[in-house]
Amino acid sequence: METDEAGGITPASLTEHLDPHRVNMHGTNQKEPRCRSLVGEVGVAAHCGIYAVRPSPCHDLKPAWEDGVTPSPQCDKARVRHGMAPLTPADFG
Ligand code: SF4
Repeated sequence: METDEAGGITPASLTEHLDPHRVNMHGTNQKEPRCRSLVGEVGVAAHCGIYAVRPSPCHDLKPAWEDGVTPSPQCDKARVRHGMAPLTPADFG
């Protein structure tokens, strides 16, 4: 992950060391992960509190079917974990 301490844009203060060479967002390396930068209640109203400076893995993960043609097993899995149905193309129609 590219933090502001290493020439990136994500504040290093919002990350924690995974090992000597890697960091993750605070709260995401837990048994029940919840990024500390997440604001609100999942399944009701939630958003990234650092959207403009979120790290590249977050930037790269798109909602399933956002473009009408691309599924996202990772998105589906996260939604199901929080009691929500996976997205469908109709959600963006
Ligand atoms: S998108 Fe934002 S709230 Fe979600 S994991 Fe990334 S930094 Fe955290």
